[in-house]
Amino acid sequence: MGAGPAGLFAARVLADVFGRVTVVERDDPADEDRRGVPQSGHAHDFLARGHQLAEEWFPGLGEEMVAGGAHAADIARDVRWVIAGRPLVRSESGLSTVISSRTFRERRLRARVAALPQVTVVGGQDVAGLSFSADGSVVDGVLLGTDGGRKLPADLVVDTSGRGSRTPVWLEEQGHGRVEEEKLKVDVGYATRIVRAPADAFAGDVCINVVASPDSPRGGACQRVEGDRAVVTLYGVLGDHPPTDPEGFLTFAKSLAAPDIHGVLEAAEPLSEVRRYRFPASLRRRYERMDSFPRGLLVLGDAVCSLNPRYGQGMAFAAMQALALRDHLRQDGEAPEPDAYFRRLTEQVVDPVWGMTLLSDLSFPGVQGERTAETLEVLELVGRTQVAATFDGPLALRCLRVFGLLDPPTALLDPAVQERVHETLSRQSAPAGSGAVRDSDTDRGM
Ligand SMILES: Cc1cc2nc3c(=O)[nH]c(=O)nc-3n(C[C@H](O)[C@H](O)[C@H](O)COP(=O)(O)OP(=O)(O)OC[C@H]3O[C@@H](n4cnc5c(N)ncnc54)[C@H](O)[C@@H]3O)c2cc1C
Repeated sequence: MGAGPAGLFAARVLADVFGRVTVVERDDPADEDRRGVPQSGHAHDFLARGHQLAEEWFPGLGEEMVAGGAHAADIARDVRWVIAGRPLVRSESGLSTVISSRTFRERRLRARVAALPQVTVVGGQDVAGLSFSADGSVVDGVLLGTDGGRKLPADLVVDTSGRGSRTPVWLEEQGHGRVEEEKLKVDVGYATRIVRAPADAFAGDVCINVVASPDSPRGGACQRVEGDRAVVTLYGVLGDHPPTDPEGFLTFAKSLAAPDIHGVLEAAEPLSEVRRYRFPASLRRRYERMDSFPRGLLVLGDAVCSLNPRYGQGMAFAAMQALALRDHLRQDGEAPEPDAYFRRLTEQVVDPVWGMTLLSDLSFPGVQGERTAETLEVLELVGRTQVAATFDGPLALRCLRVFGLLDPPTALLDPAVQERVHETLSRQSAPAGSGAVRDSDTDRGM
């Protein structure tokens, strides 16, 4: 159900097990501006872990996208990450991604999925409900059409219909109870403009991320995408949203902790109006805690957990969830057991990533949530590590591996890393002449 990133990655792994996979999408996939994914006009990073998985499942996809006008990027060399007003130290990491508009990426991905002989992608079809066995204990297909009058039978239904998924309602109607939901209010506002910017406005980079921090809670991303265009997205948290009038948009860009994105905008020619998006809260549905769940149904992607978009994780997160689905199918074959699947999904993917974004969100004093002494200590260490990474190449790489979902945040708490953070920051605060401004790029056993 749904041909967003989660649906497409899920279809890819299902095709290894099932002889026939049908992806049912409400929108016409050919539409440039799909109603079902209003976020797709905003800058969409594809984190390194997502890129790795996409290349594993669709070899050569990245090259194909680059041939179509997207931009290959080494995440440490070609992406400018600005943290607390300073860029992370640059290096060649060998960790890559491809930068493009979300629409372009999804099209290429969909074409590769649709080319699999086992898969059919059907557009313009609304899933109006699930078909249940008489006792409600098994889902045996989906109901199509606005009145749900046509049944598409299935051995397994995977709900990848995004944050607005209606599975919670359908399960409750069948007597399975209501899935517990957890929310973390962040009230992030996005505003995006497509521009044509001269390549030299990026000084050779393909993407500039000015990361919001508690001291400067506004951020932005500026990406070179296909068709010689750039997507400029600005955001603010907790109600401090960027305006959509051109002047206000520019003024907001100027107020970021670093002038980089404002500089690009000044050199650019606007190609679109400013478009907005409001994201009230991160949301997690605790299917793993339900006492009753029908066989024949699984849920994946934003339909399970929709994360604060400011970390750019959603699509890579969807790919990681599809990996958990693959691992699960390898064990259970064509009749996956929902309890075990949701347990695996929770432990392998959702808990670590949700925990990571929650931690970052809690660093903003206005975000409501429990802050234990341990949380505060970890926040302090991670914050210091990020600042140190603006002076030290190996620390920057460590941080980028965590941002890219390749390593858990605990990798930053490793004693060797923390020792290096301490040394780096001590050097910065030491008096002039003591090596205070040296950007180190040697990795001493970290
Ligand atoms: C402003 C913003 C910026 C973001 N930036 C990034 C970023 O930089 N990087 C990143 O990785 N992620 C980003 N995200 C998150 C990302 O967009 C989502 O996490 C991702 O799209 C989730 O994929 P999905 O397939 O689960 O859901 P969706 O992409 O929402 O796809 C769900 C699909 O299901 C279809 N559908 C819904 N209901 C039905 C139905 N009843 N029948 C048939 N089809 C149905 C919809 O039309 C849609 O195509 C951002 C999100 C926002 C809001």
